[in-house]
Amino acid sequence: MTAVTTPAADPASSTVPLRAAIAALPAYVPGARPTGAAWKLSSNENPYPPLTSVLAAIQSAATDVNRYPDMYATELVETVAGYVGVDAAQVVVGNGSVAVLQHVLEAVVEPGDEVLFPWRSFEAYPIITAVAGGVPVTVPVGADGRLDLPAMAAAVTERTRVVLVCTPNNPTGPVVHADELERFLAVVPRDVLVVVDEAYLEFVRDEQAPDALAVLRDNPNVVVLRTLSKAYGLAGLRVGYALAEPRLAAGIRAASTPFGVNHLAQRAAIAALQPPAQAEMAQHVDALVAERTRMWDALRAQGWEVPVTHANFVWLATGERTGELAAAATAAGVLVRPFAGEGIRVSIGEVAANDAFLELAATWR
Ligand SMILES: *Cc1c(COP(=O)(O)O)cnc(C)c1O
Repeated sequence: MTAVTTPAADPASSTVPLRAAIAALPAYVPGARPTGAAWKLSSNENPYPPLTSVLAAIQSAATDVNRYPDMYATELVETVAGYVGVDAAQVVVGNGSVAVLQHVLEAVVEPGDEVLFPWRSFEAYPIITAVAGGVPVTVPVGADGRLDLPAMAAAVTERTRVVLVCTPNNPTGPVVHADELERFLAVVPRDVLVVVDEAYLEFVRDEQAPDALAVLRDNPNVVVLRTLSKAYGLAGLRVGYALAEPRLAAGIRAASTPFGVNHLAQRAAIAALQPPAQAEMAQHVDALVAERTRMWDALRAQGWEVPVTHANFVWLATGERTGELAAAATAAGVLVRPFAGEGIRVSIGEVAANDAFLELAATWR
């Protein structure tokens, strides 16, 4: 037998067509990574080390990683269900809530269906819409950084299959209010899926914020998305979940990656939802919320117009100066998240990091 030899391929010359929607996506630009001594306020991460009992759970689970994880993450699903107070049939877990959202769209979007979302909002929305074969339709966020739900309701067409409601909105910070969401859901057709993305739920201190579980009970076309990446400090392990009516949940589960939550992540997330970790998480979140208030007050005192924020970041509408200011921040050892021509998102980090940023921001005024 002779071996079949193929000519050495030029990796730049593949003629395999990519789907048009994929080819049209902008090239991925990785977030700034600290090169030397730098404060990383660019990715809305939790600056605290992992919760004590969660770290112990990860360490003890490490000895089992030669085995496949529980494919259906049964214990994690039951833990989440018990924690939020829904039936296990209403819970779908995944490799971060971005992956869960991807599976939500894959479960309901047919090619050409419209996926409606506010803009500027979470950067993953246009990408996963395109990957799922949907057509992105955006509605501008108000100058106050708030979602314009009446305008979003008016933008719903016969082609709309999904609406994404990001609350608090990343990167601007405000929440939608319960009455606004109720009015919105009252006019959106019942066969349009409304995803309420609550990635920053634990940081919310606004009494007018919606109770998403009550909203879910009243509206079977709602999916609630949550994550352990932010308040729980598990961004690196990737655990998120969706809460939905059982038939919808089963569809999302069917679209999910097999073994989508790895073993360490399952054990860590189960530990994170137990009382000892909850208490430690709540302390960290309270401290971050106090820092957020301090940052917001200080920036306002400097003369910045900062939208009200209920997340772990603040938004500065720096407009045309965005690139220049972000570069100056990097040079000063503070990594922030610029959105060219629009503004800068600054995560709430360690006290010293926040101080470093405040000092810098004062010089920009
Ligand atoms: C950070 C974030 C998420 C969570 O992402 P994970 O994949 O769970 O890490 C989801 N939605 C929004 C709006 C976010 O900002």
